Amino acid sequence: MALKYPRVLLKLSGEALAGDKGFGFDFDTIREFARQVKAISEMGAQIGMVIGGGNIVRGSQISKMGMDRVSADYMGMLGTVINALAFQDVLEREGLDTRVMTAIRMEEIAEPYIRRRAIRHLEKGRAVIFAAGTGNPYFSTDTAAVLRGIQMKADVIIKATSVDGVYNADPKKDSSAQKFDAISFSDVVSKELKVMDHTAITLCKENALPLIVLNIHTKGIVAAALRGEPVGTLVS
Ligand code: UDP
Repeated sequence: MALKYPRVLLKLSGEALAGDKGFGFDFDTIREFARQVKAISEMGAQIGMVIGGGNIVRGSQISKMGMDRVSADYMGMLGTVINALAFQDVLEREGLDTRVMTAIRMEEIAEPYIRRRAIRHLEKGRAVIFAAGTGNPYFSTDTAAVLRGIQMKADVIIKATSVDGVYNADPKKDSSAQKFDAISFSDVVSKELKVMDHTAITLCKENALPLIVLNIHTKGIVAAALRGEPVGTLVS
């Protein structure tokens, strides 16, 4: 079956890699995510990924403890490289060729990010994990995901979370919270919904790149989203 979105940029938060532990890695959880990625690759999808760093270090949090923000953000970006290497290892054990490309050069560990090379990897069926965020302090990995998505000419951004879409209030705190099946980028901004930061949302909007927010813990959901089935929330 033809995919509605053949090329995808999948954004996973760092916290998701920690499972219930809150910090570090839960390899059973990571393996489940990797199986979903392998499954969409077998369906013919071309896959770019950005993984956050929240399970290791979040720049804004440690800068509040008195550390210089720029250094703290570099620590955050290095955290995303650690996560990328962990996820690459698991993906390759599942049998999917994977390349890590970093926005900050560290060539003994991974390839530097070169856009044309990244596209070539995708065309050859390799998953590409874009690590070290945008390479710049004061940005987020959500923004890095959209930036790479645009540069890769991705058909969709999938933001994998632990809730099943975008709600008008936090469903973990408010039982009357209502889920949107679809919503516009403008409404996300005007209603101040916590989907991604404004920089990331604006980049999506200006480049007409649709975003699907879904619960990654639901088996097979990424495949369903790429087939165009109505899962999660479509922001466009
Ligand atoms: N970061 C940064 N520039 C970027 C991307 C990330 O400085 O382009 C830093 C920032 O400190 C951030 C940390 O890396 O807090 C980890 O990323 P993020 O908090 O976005 O991870 P997530 O919440 O998705 O796990």
